[in-house]
Amino acid sequence: MIRTRFAPSPTGFLHIGGARTALFSWAYARRHAGRFLLRIEDTDLVRSTPEAVQAILGGMQWLGLEHDEGPFYQTQRMDRYRAVIEQMLAAGSAYHCYMTPEELDHLREEQRAAGAKPRYDGRWRPEPGKTLPPPPAGRAPVVRFRNPTAGVVAWDDLVKGRIEIANAELDDLVIARADGAPTYNFCVVVDDWDMGITHVIRGDDHVNNTPRQINILQALGAEVPLYAHLSMILGDDGQKLSKRHGAVSVMQYDEQGYLPEAVLNYLARLGWSHGDDEIFSLQQFCEWFDLDHITASAAQFNTDKLNWLNAHYLKRAGTARLAELVRPRLQARGVNVGTIPSLTAIVDLYKERAGNLNELADMAEVFYIDLHPKAELLAKHLTAEALPVLGEFIDRLPEVAWEAAAIGGLIKDCVTRHGLKMPRLAMPLRVLLTGLEQTPSVDAVVALLPRATVLRRLAAGRDAALSAAGTS
Ligand code: GLU
Repeated sequence: MIRTRFAPSPTGFLHIGGARTALFSWAYARRHAGRFLLRIEDTDLVRSTPEAVQAILGGMQWLGLEHDEGPFYQTQRMDRYRAVIEQMLAAGSAYHCYMTPEELDHLREEQRAAGAKPRYDGRWRPEPGKTLPPPPAGRAPVVRFRNPTAGVVAWDDLVKGRIEIANAELDDLVIARADGAPTYNFCVVVDDWDMGITHVIRGDDHVNNTPRQINILQALGAEVPLYAHLSMILGDDGQKLSKRHGAVSVMQYDEQGYLPEAVLNYLARLGWSHGDDEIFSLQQFCEWFDLDHITASAAQFNTDKLNWLNAHYLKRAGTARLAELVRPRLQARGVNVGTIPSLTAIVDLYKERAGNLNELADMAEVFYIDLHPKAELLAKHLTAEALPVLGEFIDRLPEVAWEAAAIGGLIKDCVTRHGLKMPRLAMPLRVLLTGLEQTPSVDAVVALLPRATVLRRLAAGRDAALSAAGTS
């Protein structure tokens, strides 16, 4: 049974790199009918916040990456960590170290001055035949892991290949601070062990932790999971992805009008491939996903590609769903979304044209607000040549059947009778009814609005143009 986990530290948002790690861990469990766990690594009490926990849970929910177990919170597992520390002390795989932070600083300075790598010198490490100094009275010790001194610690990373580290390179890691608090690497080890994790899929910023974690797992007699370290994600500009690149939090993509399925499809291809396939459903991804096709090199973010995917998914998304995603965006702008025209009808007409939900909201907004088309567009399109044909169209509007085909017929008839081309009337209609020069088929746009609104907007525009012409 495959068991994976996503183990974010709640110190900020769920960012795009974290979301990809979560997606890969989730998909790997799904692919193998395993279990996906969510673990909140909140032992850093200073940097962890409840808001960040909510941001992570909210981001996971938005993406639809459901966990099968958890969320587990490390802060709720302190008793367990302490018990394991006691067990290790008793077994001799950990020991008390009474060195003060000042002594440690001093030691490091000396080592640096001597051109050596700063490291703990093992002075409190028990060895056969070694006599330790008596514990200083009243001083609380830290607990250190008794790291093996000989040999190597090695693993076959499922992304990076074989990695070997000489144990001589590794310090005796502090696993509990003087106040008894267990440290980060130790909690991860106990959790991965207790939670029966078989595959640790995480960012390669953790590669340096892995040899330490493996050594502790082995000291505990635990089975060592397999590791897959994902390479980092670079921004569009090839630099390490950071706040400078705009969207950092997954929820920012929501704010910017991306659909979760577009973001997921995008993330799936960020460092993983299945031939040349670019567009696939989450379900398809789960069937295909494997660790063999993860690239060991860094993946570069490509906003154009994300936008392209988003436009693709917008076109395919159900109209009713899109309307419900657009509605709160309009409401947040203070737009009173009425029932006529129905938002669904607008979305149906416009979804092919929008790159994101905010653009769709822009397009829908003009149907609900008191519209004031730009003066320059009015001057450009409500010309002396256009006004008579517009006048006829307005005059004949009350009799036309209120549906696109009939309205289209009326537009054609009017321009023909005036010996004009279609745009001569279509453009003034577009500008007066939507404030924009580009719209879907103009008859469909006219038919969206109630007849009275069309009459009012057209007549007001025409009258303003006439009076402007009269005064000029
Ligand atoms: N809590 C770590 C982080 O947020 C992840 C630890 C792990 O996956 O082992 O980067």
